[in-house]
Parts: sequence; C-alpha cells; structure tokens
Amino acid sequence: MQHPSEKHADPTLSPGFVHAVHDQLLRYDGMRAGSERPCPGCAATTLRKNGYQAAGKTFARLVTDDGFETVTLEVQLYECKQCGRSFQGDLSEFFYADCAYARPIVDLCLFHVVDHSCQSVERILGQWYGLQVDRDTIERYDQRHGPLSTPREHVSVDGSELSVPFLAFLFGESGAESHQFAVSRHTALW
Ligand SMILES: [Zn+2]
Repeated sequence: MQHPSEKHADPTLSPGFVHAVHDQLLRYDGMRAGSERPCPGCAATTLRKNGYQAAGKTFARLVTDDGFETVTLEVQLYECKQCGRSFQGDLSEFFYADCAYARPIVDLCLFHVVDHSCQSVERILGQWYGLQVDRDTIERYDQRHGPLSTPREHVSVDGSELSVPFLAFLFGESGAESHQFAVSRHTALW
C-alpha cells in the first residue's frame, strides 16, 4: 500500500550533508521546553509545575531512508495555584505563535519562498536538507510571517543555494564565526 504523503530520502546534495543536518536537529529531540509565564486565565504568577504534556511538540520533521522521523520537545505544564488552570509553559524561545514547526524551520521556509514557489520550497527542503514541510504550511507561513527579516546570505553548493542563517543555526556558535565554520568545514560535510 502506497502512502503518497510519505517521502523517502532523495537528496540532491550528498547524503552526508543531510545526515549532518539531521544529527544537529536530533539534539533537540526530547529536550524540555516551556518556561514560567503568568496564568493565561487569571494572570497570577503563583504556579506549580504540573508535569509534561503527554504529546510532545513537533520541532522538525526529517525525511529519512525509512520515511518521516519527528523531532519533538517535551512541553512543561504548569498549574495556577490561584484558579487551578493547567497550561503550557512559554515556548516562544523555540516557536513563533501558531506555527507547527520551530523557528529555524519556519525561517528556512521564508528564506527560500522569496525565490521559489511553495511547491518548489517543499521539494528544496526535502532534497537539500532532508526536511518535510508541506506546501500549504509554507504558504501559510509566508502569509503570516513573511517577508523574512533575517539575512539573505546563501552559500552555493553544486548549484543549490543553501541558507547561511540556517547553517549557522545548525553548525555555528554565533554570528560571523559560525558562517566561517559552515563554509570552511564544507569538505567534511559534502
Ligand atoms: Zn490562574
């Protein structure tokens, strides 16, 4: 039985690069997120921790040889001592409001949608980075959050123009130094 929505790895760049991207993103798998914030019901700040949400929050979806693999964060829950309401901690460090995927993934969509159709961006993310984001989601991100304010810098590898900000997020520590790292280490990655 075929599952048309399920893709398998089909990298345009070397599988080694896609594996390196996956390895970096998998560092987030199972990471705990959700800092304290005032109760959304009554604004009280007297809270108690209330365990972790049963279902994790999707950070990214990887396209592997075996189909999709989801990178998920554990979401800290709080209970308000005032009104008893249970709610998620603050996830804004990792997510824009109302986005299913984490900020770096949304930023990557916005980066490429400047030059390509949503359909092409879905293909580019799959083949260049080994990431799954469907075209409707990309279109929604473009409408809600575009145009992207981060740098448009790219690095060209075998005709594929990769996002330097995304590479810096994955492989770098900070700023210019990380760009240097991403580029100078290319022999190791490709
Ligand atoms: Zn409350």
